[in-house]
Parts: sequence; C-alpha cells; structure tokens
Amino acid sequence: MKIFKIPVTTIRQNCRIVVDEKTKASAVVDPGGEVAKIFDFILEQQLQVTHILLTHAHFDHAGGVQELLDYLEALEYYPLFLAHKNEAQLRAGLKQQLENFGMESWGLENCPEPQQYLSDGEIIEIGNLKIKTLFTPGHSPGHLSFFIDDSTAPCVITGDALFKNSIGRTDLPGANHQVLIKSIKEKLLSLPLHTLVLPGHGSDSSIQEEIKNNPYLQ
Ligand SMILES: [Zn+2]
Ligand SMILES: [Zn+2]
Repeated sequence: MKIFKIPVTTIRQNCRIVVDEKTKASAVVDPGGEVAKIFDFILEQQLQVTHILLTHAHFDHAGGVQELLDYLEALEYYPLFLAHKNEAQLRAGLKQQLENFGMESWGLENCPEPQQYLSDGEIIEIGNLKIKTLFTPGHSPGHLSFFIDDSTAPCVITGDALFKNSIGRTDLPGANHQVLIKSIKEKLLSLPLHTLVLPGHGSDSSIQEEIKNNPYLQ
C-alpha cells in the first residue's frame, strides 16, 4: 500500500491518493481543486482510479470532484464516487460556500451527488486493500474518516475532524463541538496507537501523539 499526498488550492488541502501497489487500483480522497495537477500525477504513476471518496463537502475538499470525473471519463475511466448522505446540502452549495468566504473567483462547479452513500463501518475495496469508513460528524454533518488497516502501517485519513495538535472548526453551519469531540474520542482515539493520522490540513501525526499532546482532547 502507498498513500500519496498532493496539497491543493491556496489553502493547501491535502488530497490523498491511496494505491494498492500490486494492482495499481487507487482511491482519490478529497480532490479539492488543482485537478490538472492530480490528473497528471495519476497519469505519471499509471494509476487505475476505481474510487473517489470525500471526507466531507467543504469547497477545499469537494471542489474538484466534477472536474476529476470529467478528466477520467475522457480516458473511459468511471470511478465510483462515494460520500455520506448528510453532506448533500453542502455539495449542492459549493458556490454559496465560496461566496460566504469571499472567494467567488475560484469559480467552482457544485459537487455532484455520489453514486452511492457511505455509512459507518462500511468497507470499501480498492484492489486488495480494504478501507473502513468511520462516521465522524461534528465539523460537518456527514463527515467521514477512512481507516486503512495495513498490518504494518495502519493509517487513518481524518479530513477536517482531527489535525496534528488541533481539531476541526465548529463555527460553520451544521457543525457541533460536542459531537466532534465525541466522534474523535469514540471513532479515532480507539484505533491502534501506532495508527498514522493523515489530516486534511497540516502535518501528519499518530493516534498516540494526539492522545498525548492534543490540547482539545485532554
Ligand atoms: Zn472542512
Ligand atoms: Zn478543509
């Protein structure tokens, strides 16, 4: 297994590409923008993108989904786009989100609805890899995290729920601080201590480091 990080947009959102090295089957998680850069990487590494996954539908995570689907369709790739149903309002309101942040110039398309909805505990198969869906709301109503149970190096992609020494903001519509803390404690901090934490912004961490150092979780 390999997980590549491609920071995208001016706010450096960490798009991740999870690759099963044997089959080259891959999942693109949170293609928030700069889709040409993501697409070039896919071509260069000869990846077979089978899935597009979203942790949540804020513009910096979901802003490039439609464009990436269009790029891939031109190559006759039809990946399965999966996300949580509670983010429908955000997906349909990407333009509105940009307006709220005074960033209309980004000119994004709204995010389409997924072909299927994901729910807590669901397993997604990427080639020989298994990704477990964890429902971690609080930063947004349908926020998901993705746990990849590689025996030697387990990883969890935490979007904007958990960051290194910080947590997601809860001042946006549909957010709730108590719900976020509960999600993190129940779904994330219960993972094996050596699990690598791969957040949507900033540096990577581990579950052990966050239990020890994160000031919001003491
Ligand atoms: Zn967010
Ligand atoms: Zn974000």
